[in-house]
Amino acid sequence: MQKVVVITGASSGIGKATANLLISNKNKVVLAARRKDKLDNIFLENNSNSDDVIVTKTDVTSIKSVEDLASLALDKFGRIDVWINCAGIMPLSNFIDGKSTEWDNMIDVNIRGTLYGIKSVLPIMRRQSYGHIINISSKAGHESHPSGGVYSATKAAILMISDALRQEEIIAKSNVRVSVVSPGAVNTELLKSIHDKDTHKFIKSIYNQTAISPNRIANGILEIINLPADTNINEMIVGPANE
Ligand code: NDP
Repeated sequence: MQKVVVITGASSGIGKATANLLISNKNKVVLAARRKDKLDNIFLENNSNSDDVIVTKTDVTSIKSVEDLASLALDKFGRIDVWINCAGIMPLSNFIDGKSTEWDNMIDVNIRGTLYGIKSVLPIMRRQSYGHIINISSKAGHESHPSGGVYSATKAAILMISDALRQEEIIAKSNVRVSVVSPGAVNTELLKSIHDKDTHKFIKSIYNQTAISPNRIANGILEIINLPADTNINEMIVGPANE
């Protein structure tokens, strides 16, 4: 069935690959991120028409911006079937370096951005008595490593937020499903957000050996979206076979 899908972080990487796949599968898609030029390119590359695909500049650290995104999608398509909280950053560094601004940024984008998405779409899905919220966590939400403490904490938060939300919706019999996708190393722009040179070099060397295409993750997300309404994948952990 054709679905109305909103994707944050749609301008690159996993969000972009998911957008491309959903558009090619004839869904109605709303692409959101800060770099509107990148979203416009995705629109053009897919020969989209504005009856099916819209793009909008969105900053997930602003509740108003995310609420506007939900309103736009609802006004345009009359419903929101799936909301994918994909926007994220990963400025890794060791605690001794005290990069508290980067910690704040990660908390703002990865945690607050997801919460703002939930706040904006949940009342809409409750009214519809239907919906699916898909939050992007990470394998790093299950374990941490040197330089990854804060990033892992934000991704572990996504697991806990999603688990509680999923149970609340079950208790409320709302027909709103909640899924988490937790990727391993994926070849995207994410490493550009690592400003610490040594950490960037180290992580890059690992990614060069292991990282898989974002299309693999997009396939997993499509599988979750296309499940029958009585079925859910609570969490999909998906990454390189050799990781
Ligand atoms: P990319 O850097 O390629 O994509 C990140 C996306 O987030 C971009 O579209 C970016 O758009 C968007 N974004 C960042 N900040 C904001 C903001 N303030 N408001 C709106 N959008 C924002 O990385 P990935 O595709 O890899 O990342 C997607 C998700 O997958 C993230 O949550 C990441 O943590 C997660 N993940 C990635 C893994 C990997 O190995 N790549 C592994 C595990 C999880 P713009 O800059 O235009 O705003």
